[in-house]
Amino acid sequence: MQRYKTKQIFVGNVAIGGDAPISIQSMTFSKTCDIPATKAQIDRLSLAGADIVRVAVSDENDANALKELKKVSPLPLVADIHFRYRFALIAAESVDCIRINPGNIGSKDKIKAVADACNARGIPIRIGVNGGSLEKRFERKYGATPQGMIESALYNIKLLEDFGFDNIKVSLKASDVVRTMQAYRGLREKVEYPFHLGVTEAGLLMHSAVKSAMALGGLLMEGIGDTMRCSITGELEEEVNLARMILKYSGRQKQGITLISCPTCGRIEADLVKAVREVEQKISHIKTPLQVSVMGCVVNALGEAKHADIAIAFGNKEGMIIKAGEVIGKYKESEILDIFIKEVQELAKEREKMA
Ligand code: SF4
Repeated sequence: MQRYKTKQIFVGNVAIGGDAPISIQSMTFSKTCDIPATKAQIDRLSLAGADIVRVAVSDENDANALKELKKVSPLPLVADIHFRYRFALIAAESVDCIRINPGNIGSKDKIKAVADACNARGIPIRIGVNGGSLEKRFERKYGATPQGMIESALYNIKLLEDFGFDNIKVSLKASDVVRTMQAYRGLREKVEYPFHLGVTEAGLLMHSAVKSAMALGGLLMEGIGDTMRCSITGELEEEVNLARMILKYSGRQKQGITLISCPTCGRIEADLVKAVREVEQKISHIKTPLQVSVMGCVVNALGEAKHADIAIAFGNKEGMIIKAGEVIGKYKESEILDIFIKEVQELAKEREKMA
């Protein structure tokens, strides 16, 4: 699967673009100036596997808290700023990246000051075009179209390039799938800067999962995208887990468990939903690529197991474990899950040693 060639930039120690792995970002929702609360949320994101975190800078207190926050953050920090170039100048002294649209911060002197401040520390700027809040001139001319978003991005990119600044990444987020995909596709042909993918205001988990899988997954499979955020009205960890799944199922990330489970039917004689949840919870931390199958009965299990590295098939008060297509044992229902999870962990260790 080809990936578009893009310029490589760095947000802290995380490479974005070029041949770097596609990184996962998320955003805290605490008041940024509440350092303990924001640090606790960043820690949660770090534990869940996020690579980069963004924090909102809404006022002077937030801007002034960034220096302290940067010291305690385990993840590279992006400051999200709208309009107030002074906050961008404060942020540029300590964070790893600034998200601001140069066209929104006023005179050319102000844009130059922000570009110079970021250049001085070698930190990038994310130009974050949002389909719902385009500059008036683009909205009047193009309406809420992908073309309007592309023109806005090109305009903002040029503002920075005119001051010799090219340490840039770009996002083009709309709240609907089609517009988001068309905007990214259209701009991909015109610039080599890395793209931050996202659907904005994507909604609750189920809505965001569908929208993000379609838009971000679709773009990733076309080779577009260098870093991503799945926005969810929900828990922080859900954003990271969803992004990881999209990366995995779009073929952009090989590592980790691929968990297969049957939809269940009238032949089922065990609580498969509970079993799958337990398996997922206990093995989702494993980074080794493994295909793990959890099936409700033996009807399909043996066929499926041929494609899985390890599988479990439930029966009436018992079940079997199948490894590389061979049945390795039959066990009582009360003990089989624990044995299965241990087998998966052992298999992961063996594969790690062989790698
Ligand atoms: Fe039904 Fe068995 Fe297939 Fe699951 S594996 S859907 S229980 S036939």
